[in-house]
Amino acid sequence: MDQIAIGKFISECRKEKHLTQAQLAERLGVTDRAVSKWETGRSMPDASIMLELCEQIGITVNDLLNARRIDMENYREMAEKTLLEMREREEQSARAMLRLEIVIGIICTVCFLTMFLMAVMLDSLPLWARILMGSIAWIQFIIGMGYSMKIEVEAGYYECPNCGERYVPGYWKAFLAPHIGRSRRMRCPHCNKRGYHKKVLSKEKE
Ligand SMILES: [Zn+2]
Repeated sequence: MDQIAIGKFISECRKEKHLTQAQLAERLGVTDRAVSKWETGRSMPDASIMLELCEQIGITVNDLLNARRIDMENYREMAEKTLLEMREREEQSARAMLRLEIVIGIICTVCFLTMFLMAVMLDSLPLWARILMGSIAWIQFIIGMGYSMKIEVEAGYYECPNCGERYVPGYWKAFLAPHIGRSRRMRCPHCNKRGYHKKVLSKEKE
C-alpha cells in the first residue's frame, strides 16, 4: 500500500469536490492537521473514519486503497487478464512436465534395455553379477516409470467426455486405469460415469 499515492489521491478527490482541507476536516469531525497528514502520506485515515471520508470525497474504500478510481468495467477487465495469464502459466508448466515425462520414459527404457541385454549376454561374468545387473535394470525401470507416471497424473487435468468436468485423479486410481496414449478409462468424480478421460492442460475451457 503506497501511502504517498493514497494521500495524493485523497487530495485530488477533495479538490474535485471543491472542498478545502478545513471544510473536509469539519465534515469528518477531525482537525485539518489530520487531513493534511493523510494527504502528505504521513498517516492513514483510521478504519473508523475511512468510510465517511470516502463518501465525502465520492470514492469507494477500494478506490482509496488502490489510490485510483476502479470502475467495475476496469475491474472486470483486470480480473479477466489476470485469469488468462494464470491459465497460460499453468498450461506452460503442464506442457513442460509432460515433455519431462517422455524424456524420463526414454532414458529409463534405454537404461533398462542396455543393462538387461548386458546381463543376458555377458556370460563371462559370474552369475551373481549378472543377476544383480538384471535386478538393477528392473528396479530402475520400475522406479523411473512410476515417477514419470506421477508426472503425467499431476500435470494438467483429465477431462470427462460426458459432463466436461476437469480434475486431477488420485495417483493409484490413474495408475491402475487402462489407457490409450494419455487417455485413461476412469470414473468421473462429478457425474460418476466411466469413460476415457483425455489429458488437458488447464482447468478452464477456452
Ligand atoms: Zn463426468
